[in-house]
Amino acid sequence: MNIHEYQAKALLEKYGVAVPKGIAVRSAAEFEPALAQFPEGPVVVKSQLHAGGRGKGTFTDGFKGGVKIAQSKAEALDYAKRMFGNTLVTVQTGPAGRKVQAIYFTQASSIKKEYYLAILLDRASSRPVIVASTEGGVEIEKVARETPEKIVKVFIDPAIGLADYQMRQLLFGLRFNPTEAKNAAKLIRNLYTAFWETDASMVEINPLITTPDDQVQALDAKISFDDNALFRHPEIVALRDLNEEDPKETEAAKHSLNYIALDGNIACLVNGAGLAMSTMDIIKHFGGNPANFLDVGGGATKEQVVAAFKIILTDPKVKGILVNIFGGIMDCNVIAAGIVEAVKEVGLKLPLVVRLEGNNVAAGKATLDASGLKLVSGGSMADAAKKIVKLVA
Ligand code: ADP
Ligand code: MG
Repeated sequence: MNIHEYQAKALLEKYGVAVPKGIAVRSAAEFEPALAQFPEGPVVVKSQLHAGGRGKGTFTDGFKGGVKIAQSKAEALDYAKRMFGNTLVTVQTGPAGRKVQAIYFTQASSIKKEYYLAILLDRASSRPVIVASTEGGVEIEKVARETPEKIVKVFIDPAIGLADYQMRQLLFGLRFNPTEAKNAAKLIRNLYTAFWETDASMVEINPLITTPDDQVQALDAKISFDDNALFRHPEIVALRDLNEEDPKETEAAKHSLNYIALDGNIACLVNGAGLAMSTMDIIKHFGGNPANFLDVGGGATKEQVVAAFKIILTDPKVKGILVNIFGGIMDCNVIAAGIVEAVKEVGLKLPLVVRLEGNNVAAGKATLDASGLKLVSGGSMADAAKKIVKLVA
């Protein structure tokens, strides 16, 4: 689960991380009362989206910049009006962009230098890793590609935590002066505590900045939380913004389905994550494009299959459906009954290819036959994939 920059900063502030003062608003009526609380002088106006690259983004009406530094409150008000309700396209939103439904006004900081700092989980070493760089404010992927020597990484033993020698590696690596180093050490330590205690999978500060008087601040903040640990953090779940999430994924989560929306047009309904991955691969292999990843799991009920099928059918991009079931624990007849039930409720105008194999397959096929449903049977996985790609083309 992700949260907005303003929520991330409020959370980090509780852990003692220095951030510029700010006020977030969710309606145009709040712009002026919010700005009234700022002293005269520059104000930064920031579009709130669960996507980065806002500063360099462009709105669909041509207005440039989802983050703007206004020299006065009047100018800040103008920027907020241009951004609010407008659709911002950044490198991370995809070409359709996202509608801005919250604005964050913050005090402008004087920036001496911008740095990059992130804490994430490294899957290879199964440890938290702190990644830092003197090249802040730019895409870290670009730094990693072109000047990897400018990135410092420390891998943290979770049983020990962030050790002093590792902190020194970071501080020397970022070439801070003594006062900056003292302030940065405090910030990094607090950031690590926040990462650890909230079960975050990533905390990214880009940029982390130093000011002319050697203060160190987080100017931007992005936090992702481990969904599997959310049950421990009701206060974090309360920060969820469903406007920022794919409604199909929200619906799928309600039914405990593993569903991820993708850009293609062939929907797939599969049991088992491995089979679901290879189903997407084989669709690609024969020249098609999967519209989603969907694993209904080994012990899916008929209700879950109905819900899954309905979610697939509500995706306007979908031009065909491939059901690929290898029944081990999964009973093929449960899948068949779920499909028949869902189609009865919402209809089916798209080509459907079904490949059933394994546990109770004869009963499953009989259920589908008896329903009179118009579908194409797939023999092997390859045969089923070829058929759906051809039908959609
Ligand atoms: P994004 O990463 O989505 O583009 P940021 O919050 O990082 O958004 O803002 C982009 C740039 O705007 C920053 O790299 C920084 O240079 C500038 N900026 C952001 N917030 C402030 C602030 N409070 N004071 C001064 N400059 C800021
Ligand atoms: Mg940023």
